[in-house]
Amino acid sequence: MSDRARAARPQLVGYSARLLRDGLAVGSAGNISIRCGDIVAITPSGIGCSDMRPGDICMLTLDGTQITDDSAETPSSETPMHLAIYAATDAAAVVHTHSPEVVALSAARPELPAIHYAITWLGGPVRVAPYARFGSAALAAAAVEALQGRSAVILRNHGAVTYGRDLAQAYDRAVLLEWLARTYRLALCYGEPALLSAAELDEVTAETRRRRYGERRGGSS
Ligand code: 13P
Ligand code: ZN
Repeated sequence: MSDRARAARPQLVGYSARLLRDGLAVGSAGNISIRCGDIVAITPSGIGCSDMRPGDICMLTLDGTQITDDSAETPSSETPMHLAIYAATDAAAVVHTHSPEVVALSAARPELPAIHYAITWLGGPVRVAPYARFGSAALAAAAVEALQGRSAVILRNHGAVTYGRDLAQAYDRAVLLEWLARTYRLALCYGEPALLSAAELDEVTAETRRRRYGERRGGSS
């Protein structure tokens, strides 16, 4: 196993604890994975985010076969969804949350609309995928379909999934999604809020690219 795959274990434990701290999940809800080449490191099923240890993290091949004599735990029940997202996108990390603002919105709306220009960092208005049972192939397929052109999807009456070029980006997107859902709910308190048009979002995307917004100029070290 590569050093990168080994390093994924403490990283996943650290971010799982953050899920709880940041209010994006409770108990053993939610799951996170990192792709390291042709290995996927994923959190175990049913282990509380605060009880998780590096040795609990499961290592899988891209077809879902568990690399044996490694972790004694069962990989997350949402493994099919994580693997489907790796197969369909260039994701290097996937974060699944049960964050409350997003779950509430999912029960009432077909999408999270453009309440703020930061939604362009998720690719635009975020779709709500139809309901399917947790851990099912149907949920994996619905999530992938609703992710088209986006790095985030909301799962009806369930939660959210975000992905990124690394775990930090995937996680930041989960936090941003929750913030946008909350902001939209606050705006609804005043009546029907104004939303940004597709042209306004395109303009933001173009300006973000022109400025290379969010990119370090001096490298990462
Ligand atoms: P796991 O504990 O199996 O990862 O399941 C949590 C969850 O969020 C299911 O959707
Ligand atoms: Zn879930």
